[in-house]
Amino acid sequence: MNLETPSVLFDEKRIRERLAELGGSISAAFEGSEICIVGHMKGCLVFVADLIRVIPLDTTCHFLTASALPGAGAGAACTDISYSSEVLYEGRHVLLVEDVVDTGITLNFLLDHIRDASPASLKVCALIDKPGRRKVDVTLDWAAFTLDEPETGFVVGYGLDYDEHYRGLPYIGTIPRPAAFSEGQQA
Ligand code: 5GP
Ligand code: MG
Repeated sequence: MNLETPSVLFDEKRIRERLAELGGSISAAFEGSEICIVGHMKGCLVFVADLIRVIPLDTTCHFLTASALPGAGAGAACTDISYSSEVLYEGRHVLLVEDVVDTGITLNFLLDHIRDASPASLKVCALIDKPGRRKVDVTLDWAAFTLDEPETGFVVGYGLDYDEHYRGLPYIGTIPRPAAFSEGQQA
């Protein structure tokens, strides 16, 4: 495939520094409790791998995948849990790790799904927050990076893909927003 070379937005050093800050802040917030980390695959994969190594607490790792319901078109608010590793949320301190929060539709759905199972607490950490593009009001506890400009482009690398490509880039970069990801499309 003929892939466009992304422009570097956050390089490896910047990511490493930010991860160290996040690790400290998350560890302080959980006050020594065991953390049940739930990663939204696949975009979270590199982020979770790095995050658990900067949180000096007892962490367990679980993953789930959400997808648009079959037939739900662009901008549809419906998502479905299409995969979940076995995880008992009840009574546990859950940290949901999301790759990108854009319209907020996916995160809102995931939060409802986890809340239904009565965790002791539920917090959210996103790699990239794009607050200017929200359609649903969701609150994040942490974001590694916040993109204030609504049209920064489409972020790839460090686990984030476009059409499954770019996940292995060690930095976070941008490419022009693909047509498939115009208004409200699900990933
Ligand atoms: P939302 O439901 O918040 O609109 O969309 C969240 C999902 O869309 C994310 O989980 C992510 O997979 C995808 N997404 C949104 N913006 C981007 C982006 O700039 N880059 C990548 N790689 N995925 C994105
Ligand atoms: Mg995704």
